[in-house]
Amino acid sequence: MNIAVIGTGYVGLVAGGCFAESGNDVVCVDNNAEKIANLQKGIIPIYEPGLPEVIERNMRDERLSFTTDLPAAVKKSLVIFLSVGTPTTPSGAADLSAVFAVASAIGKAMDRYKVIVTKSTVPVGTSEKIRDAIRKETKLPFDVVSNPEFLKQGAAVEDFMKPDRVVVGADDVRPAEILRDLYAPFVRTGSPVLIVDVRTAEMLKYAANSFLAARISFMNEIANLCEVVGADVDMVRKGLASDSRIGPAFLFPGVGYGGSCFPKDTRALMETGREHGYCMRILEAVDATNTEQSSRFVERVKRHFAEDIAGKHFGVWGLAFKPRTNDMRDAPSIKIIEQLLAAGAAISVYDPEAMEEGKRIFGSRVKFALSNYACLEGADALLLVTEWQAFRNPNFERMKTMMRQFVIFDGRNIYDPEHLREMGFTYYGIGRR
Ligand code: NAD
Repeated sequence: MNIAVIGTGYVGLVAGGCFAESGNDVVCVDNNAEKIANLQKGIIPIYEPGLPEVIERNMRDERLSFTTDLPAAVKKSLVIFLSVGTPTTPSGAADLSAVFAVASAIGKAMDRYKVIVTKSTVPVGTSEKIRDAIRKETKLPFDVVSNPEFLKQGAAVEDFMKPDRVVVGADDVRPAEILRDLYAPFVRTGSPVLIVDVRTAEMLKYAANSFLAARISFMNEIANLCEVVGADVDMVRKGLASDSRIGPAFLFPGVGYGGSCFPKDTRALMETGREHGYCMRILEAVDATNTEQSSRFVERVKRHFAEDIAGKHFGVWGLAFKPRTNDMRDAPSIKIIEQLLAAGAAISVYDPEAMEEGKRIFGSRVKFALSNYACLEGADALLLVTEWQAFRNPNFERMKTMMRQFVIFDGRNIYDPEHLREMGFTYYGIGRR
């Protein structure tokens, strides 16, 4: 099948690569000329495990190409995926300007029947507006389908190749069958392809992300209360996780969720509620708890140092919003570091993949260390913010030779408090005794 993917970011690049991997001819389009020029040279703009191999293989076999020429890509393709960004506006609503700009451009470029597929996360009712935007530009036949994406950054290729389910929101049989055929190679082990109406598909994506965000905020509240009442959140979590009605995922307390999806999508769903006169009360609390969680972490640091951290030096491990990605969009590390800098602290940082992104955000305001150990040179404390695998089992004796004070603030509960105390560290976790 000939496919165009418009918007070559975290989602578009993975989707384009994986569709090519299953034999389709894919052209990925972006209006960022520098990104496209780099991709044409084989330079991948993001860190995503397994992605470089997929891109390289399919470019070599001439199933995957990159262009800024949207009209040519539209003309060549039967199915056109929209995977441009839908960031948050100041009111909390999704900014759909890129989606509608692309929809109009598709309408102008069409030369025969097309299936236009919304893969970007968009509020309920958007696909109908996309249809209107295209209809304004053409009299040719087309269908608009909603196909929300559920991949996780850090395991995006794996998730795309083996999805738990594929959701196709279509109001007609023909485009639904085209999408079913396209996804058939990815669901051979029996994952369902759920064919639903367009509005339900749009809603499903927001419901999924909001539910996961709610689990995290719920667990953070339980952890905060554990601290106050003297209970141990690790055991509470294990007890919850082993309940088959609850399950183990998204129950780890920490410094709050971040990334380009959970904060944005919970807010957009609340805004959809407001637009329809319905208050999403649970999500209001989920968002508020999350906003406070990173500040609570900073408050704990300040409390340890008797509310005076001016001139104190902190080594921060982890900038990315989660491990196995270089993405720092809405990362808790940004809020934490900004608050520490505002209080006069000196910061060194280290992240295995997000240093370039960190330099773009912090410039010369923080020191970028060459390794996680170098980051602790003269540090008054370590702040563990992202639970990269490489941080899980460090050489604590070596760390002691570099640190000025032996204090660890473990924002992800990855270390054994007992062990660290025996080694002479002062240890703070989240909700641990
Ligand atoms: P991204 O910012 O990484 O990528 C978006 C791309 O679209 C960029 O390369 C940008 O240059 C391009 N673009 C913007 N306007 C354009 C235009 N007019 N023409 C052509 N290209 C244009 O975003 P992302 O993380 O890939 O997310 C894309 C969408 O998918 C969002 O709606 C997001 O909510 C959703 N989503 C993201 C994830 C995720 O894990 N990142 C998962 C599921 C769904």
